[in-house]
Amino acid sequence: MNEQPDYKICVVCGLKFSKRAKWLRDWHAVRYCSERCRRQKITSIDLEIEDAMLDLAQIRWQRSQGSLCPSEVAMKISDGDWRPMMERVRQAARRLAHADKIEILQANHPVEPTRFRGPIRLRWKA
Ligand SMILES: [Zn+2]
Repeated sequence: MNEQPDYKICVVCGLKFSKRAKWLRDWHAVRYCSERCRRQKITSIDLEIEDAMLDLAQIRWQRSQGSLCPSEVAMKISDGDWRPMMERVRQAARRLAHADKIEILQANHPVEPTRFRGPIRLRWKA
């Protein structure tokens, strides 16, 4: 038997979601938590955000063993107003934390990528 767990991590937002009745037959193929994430998908902007996040986190770590604010990533990617980019930056942070490439910190301690609320910092995970 190849039993699948009753929850998954959404490939877009990086949040945990549970099996629902409508997915019983094709749960193995479900990748998105919601219609919104299914429509959004992972685009070239999201990959650009991930690259910039890894670059900045690695540089910060190598210079000072430090962490960075997600807004630094949004500012690097945006031409003008970076704030609309922040939700995508937080999603990228969750994806990279699930992939074990960065850590999401609160009060300087790593937190579960699906659980945090409020301000975070990002740290390179060497
Ligand atoms: Zn999602």
